[in-house]
Amino acid sequence: MSIYWNDRTKSLSPYIPGEQPRDRQFIKLNTNENPYPPSPKVIEAIQKAAGDPLRLYPDPACTVLREAVAARYGVKPEQVFAGNGSDEVLAFAFAAFFASGRAAAPILFPDITYSFYPIYADLWDIPYRVIPLGADFSINPAEYKIPSGGVVFPNPNAPTGIPLSLADILLLAEYLEKQKRIFILDEAYIAFGAHYATKFPAQTAVPHIEKYPNLLTVHTLSKSASLAGLRVGFAIGYEELIEGLCRIRDSFNSYTLDRLALAGAAAAVSDAAYYDEINRRVIATRERVIESLRGLGCTVLPSAANFVFVKAPGTTGAVFFAALRERGILVRHFNRERISDFLRVSIGTDEEMDAFLKTCTEILRGKG
Ligand code: PMP
Repeated sequence: MSIYWNDRTKSLSPYIPGEQPRDRQFIKLNTNENPYPPSPKVIEAIQKAAGDPLRLYPDPACTVLREAVAARYGVKPEQVFAGNGSDEVLAFAFAAFFASGRAAAPILFPDITYSFYPIYADLWDIPYRVIPLGADFSINPAEYKIPSGGVVFPNPNAPTGIPLSLADILLLAEYLEKQKRIFILDEAYIAFGAHYATKFPAQTAVPHIEKYPNLLTVHTLSKSASLAGLRVGFAIGYEELIEGLCRIRDSFNSYTLDRLALAGAAAAVSDAAYYDEINRRVIATRERVIESLRGLGCTVLPSAANFVFVKAPGTTGAVFFAALRERGILVRHFNRERISDFLRVSIGTDEEMDAFLKTCTEILRGKG
């Protein structure tokens, strides 16, 4: 606390990111990074960009990246906004589309979801109301069909991993469109729930943005494109929504993406074949891990993401977290009501997950 902090700074309770250890070698399953390297084309593009042109400011319109996204998703570049990680895109979207102040109608999101949403809402003074997940931890879209200031949630949800069907998403978008309310759909993990995940498919809503002028889909290269270190995210939606995001960005920092990030991100978005292959592997590993954990007597929620949400028998989340950490395995524990006995475990390589499962077996059978 400092006497120089203003009231806004004093009132904040900032987000606490997952640990990025610098001292000890961990099997790192705590921040949903992709265990496989970025496409070689990404590295090549970044190396090419790392030269004399770094003297010059980057393209504030992020043209190469927006064109690459447009080509990949079959939309127009004017329907794409790029930002410094999807966190920034989300923060700008909250600022651009949700009404602030006490008189505003509260926006809606689940009680258990990405913990940055209430933080952005507080930052911009946007009132919100949380809607509890069902007993099975799923989102019931019907509960969002009430008067509100708009809706935001991820599909699949985090940290549960449970997806909603595209039909449910579109019905909610339609309801909100009639109410003239924004629907921010955070598709951070959608690549892990696409066509090849047969049991619990999650499908992107991007092909439907033309029909729903109130639907903003938000994407990240941090997970599915193995580029958490590059900090790139983007939004796809109606042209006027994108314009709104640009107005916020250009009232803040016109150059949120540097030249290296732009070059690398455009190359990543253009190499769908490479990423489909590695993400298919992540999905196969996930399915195997879910089965093995259930075999150990754990409760594991169905996941369409690159992590699983798991509750071990006969122990608490905090104790299990500490036991894993002591043995060199880092996962994520949220000390919050309803989920304090769960751990979120990111899907690593097969070797990493074998080590994780072996350690779980030892701990749970009391041999650890
Ligand atoms: N949305 C969700 C649901 C997330 O879990 C994350 C990662 N913490 C993000 C958005 C932000 O991702 P990034 O800023 O790395 O693009």
